[in-house]
Amino acid sequence: MRRFVIAGNWKMHKKTEEAVNLALELVPLMSDVRSVDVVLCPPFTALDAVGQVLRTSGLYLGSQNMHYEDEGAFTGEVAPAMLLPLGVTHAILGHSERRQLFGEDDTLINLKVRKAVTVGLIPILCVGETLEEREGGITEEVVGRQLDGGLEEVKIADPEALIVAYEPIWAIGTGRTASPEQAQEVHAYIRARLTQFFGAETAGKMRIQYGGRVKPDNAGELMAQPDIDGALVGGASLDAGSFAEIVRSA
Ligand code: PEP
Repeated sequence: MRRFVIAGNWKMHKKTEEAVNLALELVPLMSDVRSVDVVLCPPFTALDAVGQVLRTSGLYLGSQNMHYEDEGAFTGEVAPAMLLPLGVTHAILGHSERRQLFGEDDTLINLKVRKAVTVGLIPILCVGETLEEREGGITEEVVGRQLDGGLEEVKIADPEALIVAYEPIWAIGTGRTASPEQAQEVHAYIRARLTQFFGAETAGKMRIQYGGRVKPDNAGELMAQPDIDGALVGGASLDAGSFAEIVRSA
């Protein structure tokens, strides 16, 4: 019922020429993929050039962050109005690296989510607990708080206008990964929480991605879980063959 959505977060990797080459490698590998939304999220500096490669490809272009104002004295920031003309359709917001390394909190992330929805960008709102929080038995409390904060006063008319990515921090860029059952448990919890915000009909149609060491060897069993509707892929999205295999396992 829900269309899978798989995003590649290239993080701070790939100079423009390298990013273009990766996109050029990916486009033919994806040319027969019809049933999955694929989103490539290169660094800001490569968005324009990668956007041109993707123009007629059917693949989507995402940013890894954005500011919530249209313009102003915000040194080092990028406004949504600057992203839209480049063909950007999605924005990763509240990634755990933004939260942990750059001090982003739920209030700031909420401003960004609201802005994205208002201008027609699809936020990929990231939530997830640390290892300490999981071992302390407070995963749902933490994820619930991030959802409540990030989604405050967010209104969507279309269930596909917002994506949530569950990314247990202890599984990002580490050798560990959540088991499909562990991931499904939290995804079901997230969907129940989305029901409180948007109602059962909308929440039932919203996409929830899993992220955290998704690789070709585990993508299929993760995405076979009933509430896992795709993946947010870090490391493995930097290799065209691996990313294509992940997309094909949806
Ligand atoms: C991420 O940072 O969003 C991520 C899921 O990274 P990796 O796939 O490398 O664990």
